Amino acid sequence: MKEKIIETLKAKLNRRVWDSWFSTFEVKEIGENCVVFQVGNLFIKDWLEMKYGNLIARTLKEVFNRSIDFKIEYAPLQDQPMEDESEPLVRKRPLVLTPLNPIFTFENFVTGPSNMFAYSACLEAAKNPGKYNPLFIYGDVGLGKTHLLQAIGHYLFKHKPELRVVYLTSERFLNELIEAIQRGTTQEFRERYRSKIDVMLLDDVQFLIGKNGIQTELFHTFNELYNAGKQIVICSDRDPQMLDGFQDRLISRFQMGVVVKIEKPDIETCFKIAQKMVMFENGDLPEEVLLLIAEHFNDNLRRLRGAIVKLLMHKQIYNEEIDLSRAKQILSIEPVKPKCKSVETRLFDILCELFNVTPEELKGSCKKDSAIVARQLGMYVAKNYMNLSLRKIAEMFNRSHPTVSNTIQKFEISLRTNKSLESMLNKVKELFREKTAGQLL
Ligand code: ADP
Ligand code: MG
Repeated sequence: MKEKIIETLKAKLNRRVWDSWFSTFEVKEIGENCVVFQVGNLFIKDWLEMKYGNLIARTLKEVFNRSIDFKIEYAPLQDQPMEDESEPLVRKRPLVLTPLNPIFTFENFVTGPSNMFAYSACLEAAKNPGKYNPLFIYGDVGLGKTHLLQAIGHYLFKHKPELRVVYLTSERFLNELIEAIQRGTTQEFRERYRSKIDVMLLDDVQFLIGKNGIQTELFHTFNELYNAGKQIVICSDRDPQMLDGFQDRLISRFQMGVVVKIEKPDIETCFKIAQKMVMFENGDLPEEVLLLIAEHFNDNLRRLRGAIVKLLMHKQIYNEEIDLSRAKQILSIEPVKPKCKSVETRLFDILCELFNVTPEELKGSCKKDSAIVARQLGMYVAKNYMNLSLRKIAEMFNRSHPTVSNTIQKFEISLRTNKSLESMLNKVKELFREKTAGQLL
């Protein structure tokens, strides 16, 4: 029965949603009037109740043929902080401990399937600091980790100005510690990070790989903040498990809360991000150019932004018109070339294979039936589906221009009445499509 519930529910959701939200979802027990589910963390529990509650209820009704209640529990991997024990915070004026990029806000973050989970987790962490703790976000360079991390900062400055929020890179954390050691002020350093902040936004933690001393420092800082119910959000370019050379105890701390991956955006999301970036630069670029950029730079949005800035610079400073071909030139994007063989060679390959003839026979004066049909069909395909000029076709088949024209005309007439010619033509088209990945036909 447990399996049936899971299978029925799974069938109603697309894989991406399932992988993002339901990977730790399981049926804990089935009672008379209530089914108890279990998930790996609190954030997912709340999210599932909010977004998928109705769907779960419907699924249960379908499986049991009657309405049945359910509840979702969460089973923390390790001990969670005692939320209520943290002492009330003293109300203070907003304290900007670190400058943030003003553009890196939630409002300016474009969401899509690749980053929805990370976005939601960060927003929830900002709304309820300390609840989903720690929040660990990872993903390749340029996919928006720093943006989201700072968005939490902006949100808190605006909505909870009494909280002391620190955004800092791991590099800075390290440098400050070194400085403190040199000056003999480590005690102050510790105090600052362990007891004088409410939210710690730590970027690029992979920077601390192999640096054991600072990891120990971070471990203690982490524990103090965590035990006091303070929100910790950490970004990294890799999964906590892949932080080679990191102390195990730190890795397991990182995994205690919510771990979220940001994926490469799809082209559509990327296009929207590009539009937004252009807007921030107060510029304007044609849609086809934005699409080109979206397709080309979707693996790194920092490079995407670089490309936009470069194009706008050409437009504004040099007063250039940026159309598709100019954009390609400026960004050194080569047009997609057919891989390896030319399309003409591919056509010959197909004809030779299908009709059991050689290229020489096609180009020469071979009078075999199969060579004659292959030649006619080849010319017809070249003209109608490859858009080649008659001159080019004449060259390919080593014939004169009028001969090609005549042959194609005759072939067209026979095609109308001869079913087997038609099926041969279809076969050639099909093979051609396969070989050229749909490039031309
Ligand atoms: P990371 O920290 O993951 O290397 P960043 O957060 O620095 O990446 O993002 C690189 C650039 O892309 C920044 O200019 C950021 O504003 C932008 N960016 C990334 N993701 C988005 C998004 N979803 N919507 C809008 N801008 C984005
Ligand atoms: Mg970053």
